[in-house]
Amino acid sequence: MKIGILKETRPGETRVALIPALLPPLVREKHDVIIEAGAGSASGLADELYAKAGARVVKTAVAVYKEADIIFKVQPPATTGARGKSEADQLREGTTYIGYMAPLANPDLVKVLERKKITGFAMEYVPRITRAQSMDALSSMATIAGYKAVLLATQHLGKMFPLLMTAAGTIPPATVLILGAGVAGLQAIATAKRLGAKVEAFDPRPAVKDQVKSLGATFVEMEMPADAETKGGYAKEMSAEFLRKEQEAIAARLPKVDVVICTAQVFGKRAPLLITKAMLGAMRPGTVIVDLAAEQGGNCELTRAGETVRHQGVAIVGAVNLPATIPSDASLMYSKNITNLFATLFPKGATTPNFEDEVTVGACITRDGAIANEGVRAALRPAKPAKTARPAKAPKTVKAPKKK
Ligand code: NAD
Repeated sequence: MKIGILKETRPGETRVALIPALLPPLVREKHDVIIEAGAGSASGLADELYAKAGARVVKTAVAVYKEADIIFKVQPPATTGARGKSEADQLREGTTYIGYMAPLANPDLVKVLERKKITGFAMEYVPRITRAQSMDALSSMATIAGYKAVLLATQHLGKMFPLLMTAAGTIPPATVLILGAGVAGLQAIATAKRLGAKVEAFDPRPAVKDQVKSLGATFVEMEMPADAETKGGYAKEMSAEFLRKEQEAIAARLPKVDVVICTAQVFGKRAPLLITKAMLGAMRPGTVIVDLAAEQGGNCELTRAGETVRHQGVAIVGAVNLPATIPSDASLMYSKNITNLFATLFPKGATTPNFEDEVTVGACITRDGAIANEGVRAALRPAKPAKTARPAKAPKTVKAPKKK
């Protein structure tokens, strides 16, 4: 198969979907890898490295789209741009796409994929089952985001993280509160601990308490919701009543912390609002909030995605696309995820995807000119309410013949 790799065009994106080190297994399987010149440059990967590993480097994206049977990408293909020239427009009819898609946020892209009968696989829809962990880009990128969120906090904080006893005085350790302890939150706990901070965390899923403690952090005790988790292990949307109590518990901690790392999210929903504007008033000037949920609406009321807002001396960092700030490792992990997914979709040299496999079915968003994923279909094409049946016409009254 001809696998096409492109230079990402979204502003700030530095990752590449395939690194040279992962080319040899594909070449051994007789795949032809075609890569746009400069695709790896923002990750420090020169064209020569790709050529040496067995790829064909071509000058333009157009040349890649023209030949490739499968496109490996990081960001969803853009639908904007001159007519016929956008990334989505250039995808060839009947080909396969593997990469992030964010179908609910990109309905126009989904329409293009349907119209062009493209078999589209979304990295964020890979089922989160044990067997698919090596393909789970959400987890690998969340790991990077959790790590980097703590480093961002250190840059904005006017204090050091570790306890230091020096001749010039004793520096107490920084106190870090982590809200949401999924993949990103747990990595943030581990990173802040490694830097010597005192760490506390909260997450409404019951299984998380032990994970938080095993990393050496304190679990913020509050009344736990009865039914916090979906079957897949994700948090459910919490009730307004629970969120109110959670805000109260968080408010009690805020005057005592130096850093808050917000990572709380609910799949497919607006991120829960955990820190209101009023709550910020109780924080000490100099406190830093890094909000990883910025693009999902933010856990803090004043968060602005991609900006740092200052309010009464508190810095609120609306972090976006942190994996792109660590391109070398992010590209390595993403490439591992995408090549593992590819090997599952097309096992042993197959040229059509193996739809017997639940990973293939779960990750597939478009197929044969239609939306294949039920959830995406229901969200983008909600069934029209059935027309209310017209009232049946009253039967004509037949006059009884007059009795003679
Ligand atoms: P996520 O990014 O969707 O959410 C982050 C965290 O926010 C979650 O831990 C969630 O419980 C928490 N949260 C939601 N509402 C909150 C609230 N009101 N207050 C505080 N926290 C709140 O989740 P994620 O990190 O991508 O993954 C979450 C879970 O998914 C994992 O911990 C695991 O159970 C499951 N998972 C399974 C696999 C696998 O088996 N392959 C892989 C990855 C994740």
